[in-house]
Amino acid sequence: MTLIDTHCHLDFERFDEDRDEVVVRATAVGVQRIIVPALDLQNCETVLALTERYEGVYAAVGVHPNSSADWQDGWIGALREMAQAEKVVAIGEIGLDYYWDDVPKPVQHRALGQQLELAAALGLPVIIHNREASGDVLALLRESPLAFRENAGVLHSFSADWETAVAALDMGFHLGFTGPVTFKKAVELRQIAVKAPLDRILVETDAPFLTPQPYRGKRNEPAYVRFVAERIAAERGLDTAVFAQHTTENAQRLFGVMRDT
Ligand SMILES: [Zn+2]
Repeated sequence: MTLIDTHCHLDFERFDEDRDEVVVRATAVGVQRIIVPALDLQNCETVLALTERYEGVYAAVGVHPNSSADWQDGWIGALREMAQAEKVVAIGEIGLDYYWDDVPKPVQHRALGQQLELAAALGLPVIIHNREASGDVLALLRESPLAFRENAGVLHSFSADWETAVAALDMGFHLGFTGPVTFKKAVELRQIAVKAPLDRILVETDAPFLTPQPYRGKRNEPAYVRFVAERIAAERGLDTAVFAQHTTENAQRLFGVMRDT
């Protein structure tokens, strides 16, 4: 079975003590590719360094909404330059976060809008963070040159409603599912994971966060993406290996590289 963890913060301190082992454990269960999205400009450098250390690690460069308080238009030039690195496969993670209200909405909108334009100009997909901001996320995506493009990007760790899913799918986006899809109470989320087209689903961990069952409460790691795949496959009445094959092909198609798994 091959799987790609399309969203993992492998650079976080919580992996400092056993990062090599984490990667080895992932590979051992078939997770041969891991995409690590950046959160701010400085973090981009850290993430790019990881892609040099580990063969199976790829990067996204971008500024997260919670890191966009001091957003400067000049940052786009820095991101454009870093996006030239060989293993950069997306712009991310970018988006809107209305849960933590530290960054004023107009600033978040400006940062997202400019990064969407950059992605479109570079021909890269985007990794979208959406926390309690579905209406504005959809509006900004719709206004962007990415809308209705093939392989526009992914709504990562999807946690919104079916109407949001449909609107995003219509615009060419994929849906990324994480650990919560395995949680007992996540009935609506599982329904969305069952109804979504098989060719538009990605699986991810968002490690070290959002640990799936049966390890909920512990630190998450890329090897656990298989529990996300297993659960959605079971809900859809599919063999896990068959479902995993689809999600791996989706990730390869969306992110363009990593074809040699
Ligand atoms: Zn993340």
